[in-house]
Amino acid sequence: PTTAPLPPLTIALAGPRGFCAGVDRAIQIVERALQKFGAPVYVRHEIVHNRFVVDSLRAKGAVFVDDLAQCPADRPVIFSAHGVPKSVPAAAEARRMTWVDATCPLVSKVHMEAERHAEDHRQLILIGHAGHPEVIGTMGQVPDGAMLLVETVADAETVQPQDPAALAYVTQTTLSVDETADIVAVLRRRFPEIQGPRKEDICYATTNRQAAVKAMVEGCDAVLVIGAPNSSNSKRLVEVARNAGCSRSLLVQRAADIDWTQMDGIRRLGLTAGASAPELLVEEVIDACRERFAVTLEHVSVTEENVVFKLPAILADAPAAE
Ligand code: SF4
Repeated sequence: PTTAPLPPLTIALAGPRGFCAGVDRAIQIVERALQKFGAPVYVRHEIVHNRFVVDSLRAKGAVFVDDLAQCPADRPVIFSAHGVPKSVPAAAEARRMTWVDATCPLVSKVHMEAERHAEDHRQLILIGHAGHPEVIGTMGQVPDGAMLLVETVADAETVQPQDPAALAYVTQTTLSVDETADIVAVLRRRFPEIQGPRKEDICYATTNRQAAVKAMVEGCDAVLVIGAPNSSNSKRLVEVARNAGCSRSLLVQRAADIDWTQMDGIRRLGLTAGASAPELLVEEVIDACRERFAVTLEHVSVTEENVVFKLPAILADAPAAE
């Protein structure tokens, strides 16, 4: 029997997409810690927000916990890429635990800025999303109540610092570049003396992935962002695609999550992945498309990335994972 030809589909692949240097380093830290210390190695919080990554590290002997109290004192513990409040390493020290900090160096940079402002007696505003572990970690660099959280332009219009002349802001690293610029503009208008980071706190990976989505989205009938529902930078990519005019922009964890009825009749699909999503999951989605469409791939790249972060000294002598 002859089968009907598959409908044509162009997949516009955004570049850069997927793993950033901080995620790559965090995963390597868990793998090398397993090589150096043997299993089990404990990890406080999902090392990066991706179930596929977490499951594969669990299979190698990593144990994921929400709280340091769940870790035995005689096993190493790793802190996730999102960063932790100062109280967490302090508690690990108090229990004489071996701990390895997988906080992304670009998050640590924000922590240091916050500390510097606090030492200079400036009140801090953190632009970020309540409840995200990075926000909890950054707020936990200074004493309780020393940092005010601003999530939206409306918050920026109403926030009431104690002394507008002694005020600074820092931000989460994975925010929307455009929305953050609007929030900062309001803060600068209301508090002209507010101090900000010399260079944006929003990291290079977040910035590049959002720019790539903007470049890719034109003419797309649908956009798929591969990422976890709790991944801040992935959710922002969906918003960027929607704001750029593609209302059918969806977050999916992997190919099995795709609702193909939403893909009916599309001719051009934009595809990208959040900073914690492995390229394997992108390939899986392309393969799933090939079963239903005659696929042509098109690469839309806005820049090349070559950022690599050093591993913590404690793991410098650990062999790389097999
Ligand atoms: Fe670091 Fe940015 Fe990656 Fe977060 S998204 S881990 S801040 S490089």
